[in-house]
Amino acid sequence: MYRAPVDEIAFTLKHVAGLGQALDRSLFGDLSEDLVDAVLSEAGRFASDEIAPLSAVGDETGAVLEDAAVTMPQGWKELYGSWTEGGWNALSGPEAFGGQALPAMLAVAALEMWNSGSMAFAIGPTLTMGAVEALEAHASDALKQKYLPKLVSGEWMGTMNLTEPQAGSDLAALRARAEPADDGSYRIFGQKIFITYGEHDLTDNIVHLVLARLPDAPAGTRGLSLFLVPKFLVGDDGSLGQRNDVFCSGLEHKLGIHASPTCTMIYGDGFVEPKGAIGWLVGEENRGLACMFTMMNNARLAVGMQGVGVAEAACQKALAYANERRQGKAATYDGEGMAPIVHHPDIQRTLLTMQGLTRSARAISYACAHAIDMARMSPAAEKRHWQERANLLTPVAKAFSTDTGVEVASLGVQVHGGMGFIEETGAARLLRDARIAPIYEGTNGIQAIDLVLRKLPLSGGDQVRSYIAELGETLEAVRASNRADLGGAAKGLAAMVGALDEATGHLLGLIGKGETQPALAGATPYLRLFALASGGIALARGALADPSDRRAGLCRFFADNFAGEAQALGDQVINGAEALLAAGSGLVSA
Ligand SMILES: Cc1cc2nc3c(=O)[nH]c(=O)nc-3n(C[C@H](O)[C@H](O)[C@H](O)COP(=O)(O)OP(=O)(O)OC[C@H]3O[C@@H](n4cnc5c(N)ncnc54)[C@H](O)[C@@H]3O)c2cc1C
Repeated sequence: MYRAPVDEIAFTLKHVAGLGQALDRSLFGDLSEDLVDAVLSEAGRFASDEIAPLSAVGDETGAVLEDAAVTMPQGWKELYGSWTEGGWNALSGPEAFGGQALPAMLAVAALEMWNSGSMAFAIGPTLTMGAVEALEAHASDALKQKYLPKLVSGEWMGTMNLTEPQAGSDLAALRARAEPADDGSYRIFGQKIFITYGEHDLTDNIVHLVLARLPDAPAGTRGLSLFLVPKFLVGDDGSLGQRNDVFCSGLEHKLGIHASPTCTMIYGDGFVEPKGAIGWLVGEENRGLACMFTMMNNARLAVGMQGVGVAEAACQKALAYANERRQGKAATYDGEGMAPIVHHPDIQRTLLTMQGLTRSARAISYACAHAIDMARMSPAAEKRHWQERANLLTPVAKAFSTDTGVEVASLGVQVHGGMGFIEETGAARLLRDARIAPIYEGTNGIQAIDLVLRKLPLSGGDQVRSYIAELGETLEAVRASNRADLGGAAKGLAAMVGALDEATGHLLGLIGKGETQPALAGATPYLRLFALASGGIALARGALADPSDRRAGLCRFFADNFAGEAQALGDQVINGAEALLAAGSGLVSA
C-alpha cells in the first residue's frame, strides 16, 4: 500500500526546487519550515490512510449513471466529506474567500500525494481549485461573493467545459452558443463531451465554467466567451433554487480512472423550464479563452502532478514486490533458497530508471510551482523573469511528468512479471489510470508545440538561455565537488546539458527564420531532452545538498544511463526533421 514519501518531497521542495531560499527570504510571510513540514505530513497521511484505501473500489465499481444522475462508488461521498472537513480543498484558495492561500509549491506537493492515493479522486478537487483561480482572476464581485466561498471550501465542486465532438485540441471550432437575456444573464445551448466530474453526488451543487459563442462573435478563438453555469441556481442568500437546464446525458466507459465521471453535458435542451441553461459572463465578452487559460495553466501543472503521483505509487509497489518475490540465483544473495528478484541487476536497472524518472519529474514540477510563487511574491523587477520561467516549465512539467507516469507504471507492471498483468496487484490499475494524463489538458504533442513555438522565443530566447545557464552552474558545482560517490556523473550531465544547449540554439534559429515545420518536427524529442537534462541536474542538486551517498547513487546512475538518450534526442531534433517531413507526406490521404 502507498505511503506518502513526505521526507523526500520536503527535501525536494527545500533543497532542489527553491523553497528553502524563498523561506530564507521570508517571501511567504510567516510561513515557517515547521508549518511546511506539518502540512506535508498531514496531507500525506490523508493520501495514504484515507484516499488510497478507496482507490480499488473506485476502480472496480466506477461512477454509475442512471436517470441523468451519477452515483459515486461506495465510500467516496464520506471520503469527500472528510476531505472538505479537513480543510484540504481550501489549501491554495484565496484568503478573502476562506482559503489558506498557501504557496503553489505546497499545493502541488500535496496534490502529488493525493494523486498517488487515487488519480480518479484528486482530479475532482483539482478542477474545483482551477475554477476558483479563474473566477478569482476574472469574475465580477457579485459572482465571486456568491460562488467562491463554497467552491473554496469544497461545499460545491467546479468543472471545466471546453471540449465538443468537433473541437478537441482546436478550440477555434467550438460551437456552443450563448444568448444574452434581458436580466443581464445569458442562456447557453450546446453539447460538451468528456466533462470530468460534470455530474456526481458528492456535492449539492456543481458550478460549470463553459466556453460558448455570443451571437455575431468573431470566428475562431477570439469569439469565445466564458460563462458560469450552476447545476442549481443560487439565491441572493446563498440558498439553492431551481434546477438549471444542464444535464448529463452519458457517461464514458474508459481504460482507467473509472471513479472519475467523464460526462456528456447537454446545455439548453429544454429538459426544464425555462429552456436554455442560465449562465453569467466571466470576464469580458469574447475574451473567454484568456480567462479559461487561467484555469488551464493551473490544470496543466496539476495534471503533471497526476503523472508524478502515479509514478511514485508505481515505484513503491514495484520495489516492495521486488524485495518479496523470489526467482533464480543471484551473485549478491547468499541466503536460503531463491533470491529476491531485487538482487538481479536487470530489476535494479528497472527500479532505478523508475526512481530517476519519477524524481526528475517531481523536481521539474516543483520548480515550475516555485516559479509561479516567485512571480506572485517577488518585487516588480523580478516578476517578469519568474512568470516567464513558469511559462517555460509548464508544458515540460505537464508532458514529461505524465509521460513518466505511463512509462514508470508500465515498468512497474514489468517488475511484477505475470502478476503485473493481473488486476489483483494494483500495478495494472496504475498503468490504466496513468494513460489519460498525456492526453487531456492539452495533449503532450500540443505541449511540445507550445514549448517550442511559444516558450523558447520568450524574451528573444533569453529566458531559455538563462535556464540552461543555471543548469550549467550546477554542473560546475558537481565538477568542483570532487565527490567520489558521484563517479563520472559530471561527464554524463555535461553531455545532456550540451545536447540541450545545441538543440535549443538550432530551434531558435529555425523559429527566427520562420521555418516552423522542421521546428515542429523536433518538438516532442526536444521536450524530452529538455526534461532529461533538467532532471539529471535536479538529481545532482539533491546529491550535492545531501552529504550521505543516498542521492548520489541515483544521480550517477541517471547521468550515465540517460546521457546517450539525451544526445540521440538532440540529434533527432537537429537532423531528423528532413526525413520525417519527407516520409510523413507519404502518409497523407486526406
Ligand atoms: C477522461 C477524459 C477526461 C476529460 N476531461 C475534460 C474536461 O473536464 N473538460 C474538457 O473540456 N475536456 C476534457 N477532456 C477532453 C480532452 O481535453 C481532449 O480529449 C484533448 O484535449 C484532446 O482532444 P481530442 O480528443 O479531440 O483529440 P484531437 O484534438 O482530435 O487530437 C488527436 C491527436 O492529434 C494531435 N493533434 C491535434 N491537433 C494537432 C496539431 N495542431 N498539431 C499536432 N498534433 C495535433 C493530438 O496531439 C492527438 O494526438 C477529457 C478527455 C478524457 C478522455
